[in-house]
Amino acid sequence: MRKSIIGGNWKMNMRASSAKELASALRPLGSGDCEVVLFPPFVYLKDVADAVRGSGVHVGGQNCHSEPDGAFTGEISAEMLKDSGADYVLLGHSERRAYHDGWGESSSWINAKLTHALGVGLKAILCVGETIAEREAGRTNDVLGGQLRQSLAGISAERTIDVVIAYEPVWAIGTGKTATPQMAEGAHAFIRGVIGRMWDEGIAQQMRIQYGGSVKASNARELLSQTDIDGALVGGASLSADEFAAIVKAAK
Ligand code: PEP
Repeated sequence: MRKSIIGGNWKMNMRASSAKELASALRPLGSGDCEVVLFPPFVYLKDVADAVRGSGVHVGGQNCHSEPDGAFTGEISAEMLKDSGADYVLLGHSERRAYHDGWGESSSWINAKLTHALGVGLKAILCVGETIAEREAGRTNDVLGGQLRQSLAGISAERTIDVVIAYEPVWAIGTGKTATPQMAEGAHAFIRGVIGRMWDEGIAQQMRIQYGGSVKASNARELLSQTDIDGALVGGASLSADEFAAIVKAAK
């Protein structure tokens, strides 16, 4: 039985006081049977880790570099995340794959980051997903398969226990458009099949796959009741304690 996991991706939102306030309000969520991980901006990571310490709620970084140290202005290493109280790192988010004046992150760089992060003892949520143009061209499975094979290349069977996949159709992120439960389940079942072919059926059945894309309290229960949907990665709705708590409750 896979344990549900709900992530709250705060993106570039919050200030120190609101971050601490939200994290404190979410402390009760750590004592249930669903794993909860908060992804605050880097500068508030330590404050949020302090606010949830001892509650069972986990904290993660929204990205990390593939090197431990060095001349990489503006970057953060996996070692620094761990040092600041993170257990998790979010990698390959579509906003990072797409933005930054054309130098969007490639799956091969994401693979280097993932390999390094797992090596220092972080758990990772790896995001994959197709754009609307790719879906309409019938390329969804090709895109997902390619992102998974490249991003997960060389990860040993033993380390797969520390990897969660987030299926996030790019057209559903922050748009209010959600994949139908059937559409999401189809993609999750496909992803589980790819994992099975990359390793084996045991690992495919053990790996948790979250859905992300405009998840809210009102649509969470139907999405989370699908066979291959093991949780959610939540953006906008994770900024409200009541809304996020209702999503976590729907996962239990
Ligand atoms: C996300 O950023 O991972 C996300 C799913 O955002 P939203 O829930 O706002 O669509």
